[in-house]
Amino acid sequence: MQIPDALWLAGQARSSASGGWLELIDPSTEEVWHRVPAAGTAEVDEAAALADETFRNGVWSAASPYQRATVLFRLAALLREHSEDLARMEARNVGKPIADARDEVLGAAKAFEYYAGGISRFGGETIPVSGGGFDFTLRVPIGVVAAIVPWNFPCPMAAWKCAPALATGNSVILKPASLTPLTALALGPLAEEAGLPAGVLQILAGRGSAIGDYLVQHPLVRKIAFTGETATGARILSLAAADIKRVSLELGGKSPNVIFADADVETAAARAPLAVFGNTGQDCCARSRVIVEASVYDRFLDAFVAATEALVLGEPLDEATQVGPLVSAGQRATSEDYLALARSECGRVVCGGERLRRKGWFLTPAIVDGLPSDSRVAQEEIFGPVACVLPFGTEDEAVALANGVRYGLSGSLWTRDLDRALRLSRRLECGVLSVNTNSSVHLEAPFGGLKQSGMGRDLGMEALRLYTEVRNIYVASA
Ligand code: NAP
Repeated sequence: MQIPDALWLAGQARSSASGGWLELIDPSTEEVWHRVPAAGTAEVDEAAALADETFRNGVWSAASPYQRATVLFRLAALLREHSEDLARMEARNVGKPIADARDEVLGAAKAFEYYAGGISRFGGETIPVSGGGFDFTLRVPIGVVAAIVPWNFPCPMAAWKCAPALATGNSVILKPASLTPLTALALGPLAEEAGLPAGVLQILAGRGSAIGDYLVQHPLVRKIAFTGETATGARILSLAAADIKRVSLELGGKSPNVIFADADVETAAARAPLAVFGNTGQDCCARSRVIVEASVYDRFLDAFVAATEALVLGEPLDEATQVGPLVSAGQRATSEDYLALARSECGRVVCGGERLRRKGWFLTPAIVDGLPSDSRVAQEEIFGPVACVLPFGTEDEAVALANGVRYGLSGSLWTRDLDRALRLSRRLECGVLSVNTNSSVHLEAPFGGLKQSGMGRDLGMEALRLYTEVRNIYVASA
């Protein structure tokens, strides 16, 4: 498969655009290796008009669930067929380990398969209204959906939005992050080959600073499905309010990893590194607040540090690599600034925080202890390889530490006490909590955050609700 070098508009590649160009830099070499056109407002207008037209003419929105499913299953098959090329492209573009990139591309294919299969089982209900007659609801597509996605998991994020939005009959404008547009752009030609009618899916690489507000406020866009930073989400929400647009937001996190003394502490410590340093810490679900019962604190910390130091840092395309470089110079500088702040707040950097003696935005995974829970390093989403460890004495203290941030996305709880696990499942403020493991994402289950981590749920059948409106119909009977 050729590396995409064009936008996708009206079912065709568009090799130049009014917003100039996006230069893509390989995070492991710091060199420009590719470029793609950047959409400007002219392309947003064009995409919105086409998406609206295709939505209204019913070529996709009125197609039967079976017809839509057939196309989406074909698209999934094409993603599988080209998965190695897509994974290599993604690994190079984001700097992520090739093994992770492969999983993510296959995960994207599975998302299309899941919603292709799910759409025929998603419908309204009949309601026994008083006064007789027949009342039922319909689930109908919303219209033009703007799907705006971040750079950390470009391929799965695009699929998590596009698959349910398309399955339910919407038209979609997909806007990937400027740093990582490639796998999203690759979807265009594959969707066409799969039989998606032209104009149903437009893919606009382009700078959020130049076209973000314009896209969100565009009068033909009826729904915004966003994943990214909390600050950007808040801005989108306020801009969308003027037209009462539908908005779903998957935002930032500062997720807790809570380890009780009665847990399998060794397993918790062995798995803690990838729960926070996977994807080089650039993961909304990163368990970056590690909260450990005081009686096992030292034992846990020693094992956590040893397992972290054993992680293999290196070339994204090397099969053995577990942690690659950060995505950009800016992202590494942010992590380094937080480590300097940690030191100035009397934190102890127990390991990591060092650059490698080579090109590339590498930084060894860092563990900090000794910080107060309300310090900036322990409170703010760093989005890099920095974890802080905090001790607790009682269960109530553990809950207060875990909940004491503005976010509420993921979390882990390690305990062998079933009563405690069930009790804390309700008390911990996490949209997705895992017990005695660190997995947050299951394609079939809803995923999303509480508090400032977002609103709405991706994945599972729940996501189909995000892309449909409920209409109620009442039929009188004599
Ligand atoms: P970001 O800066 O908010 O950008 C996300 C997307 O929004 C990009 O496509 C960006 O375009 C675009 N954008 C920027 N300004 C915009 C505006 N005014 N209007 C509309 N779109 C705009 O986030 P990021 O740095 O790419 O991603 C990291 C963040 O995503 C972290 O906070 C992370 O926690 C969060 N995240 C959350 C989840 C979840 O499921 N909860 C999953 C993954 C990531 P440009 O790239 O051109 O700026």
